[in-house]
Amino acid sequence: MTDEAAERVAEWVRPEIRALSAYHVPDAGGLIKLDAMENPYAWPDELRTQWAELARTLDVNRYPHPQAPALKEQLRAAMAVPPGAELLLGNGSDEIIQMIALALAGPERTVLTVEPGFVMYRMIAVFAGMRYCGVPLRSDDFALDTPALLEAIARHRPAVVFIAQPNNPTGNRFDEAALVQVIEAAPGLVVIDEAYAPFTDASLLPRVGQWPNLLVMRTVSKMGLAGLRLGYLAGPAAWLNEFDKVRLPYNINVLTQRAAELALRHKAVLDAQTAAIREERGRLHAALAAIDGVTPFPSEANFILFRVPAGRAKAVFDGLRARRILVKILDGAHPLLADCLRVTVGTPDENAAFVAALRECV
Ligand SMILES: *Cc1c(COP(=O)(O)O)cnc(C)c1O
Repeated sequence: MTDEAAERVAEWVRPEIRALSAYHVPDAGGLIKLDAMENPYAWPDELRTQWAELARTLDVNRYPHPQAPALKEQLRAAMAVPPGAELLLGNGSDEIIQMIALALAGPERTVLTVEPGFVMYRMIAVFAGMRYCGVPLRSDDFALDTPALLEAIARHRPAVVFIAQPNNPTGNRFDEAALVQVIEAAPGLVVIDEAYAPFTDASLLPRVGQWPNLLVMRTVSKMGLAGLRLGYLAGPAAWLNEFDKVRLPYNINVLTQRAAELALRHKAVLDAQTAAIREERGRLHAALAAIDGVTPFPSEANFILFRVPAGRAKAVFDGLRARRILVKILDGAHPLLADCLRVTVGTPDENAAFVAALRECV
């Protein structure tokens, strides 16, 4: 039976899908979890009580509102979305990337991005049967290699360019003037992925509407609501109306709609948490820089990329794990990430435990 199933799989599942590995999420049971850019702070009791009361009154036998207008209104106000821009909601911003790819896909269509960057752009290009082009960042500081990027745009004429600002996994913020050059040179769409907006002052959201091909994507995941799965895309209605056609009905479930509305009514709580993370990031960066053999890179996100001595990344990762700390190993993911690991900024206690463990491992 299994052999026969395997034969049918080989015959019918597309080779490029068989060649992929599923998005890997390691088991974090019992570990200090500093691998996934989550906000380490939970909701205060007062909010939990209000959420429990809300949940009690929900009719889960009914479908959620298909357009979630109340939630959209709140997002607009809370995130200062410009008046001319429309909003599209996704079950996480990953789903928005997928909607964009589905709407633009074709065998001759290219997804273009920078590398090292967010891996879902490439994965989703493969899902959608699109070509993919990753333009390397500069090796010394992970800045945009603007001439190379403009040359690649002219050559591939990408249907869509995705750029995360600040970038994941490097953490740095790109020069806004260079991004504008990309927007002006791109024949198709440019999506600026502002997943880490709560941790930086950089944003192109206020400039949505200034170019016909600029969309800004955000998520509530990194600001403290990763469990809800909610992303949003802001831009001209002409684009969003098309993407809305490939959106599956009711993609934002009723619990997410109500919980996000509640959280946004108490956005000050989340803002205080992300402000604390920003401060803690500075302390963590200084602590890393003070360890012999560790080189942390500048970060405007809620994580820090750091390099350890050549050939030591796996041993450091295993050593941290043995000390009950889970980070992300990036050595091997891209040539520019040789000997690199990435740590999410946690609570002061978690960061202190991490720094102490790292000192022992390096
Ligand atoms: C985490 C992350 C996302 C995904 O966010 P979700 O809304 O949780 O799907 C998108 N882009 C970048 C750059 C990220 O780091």
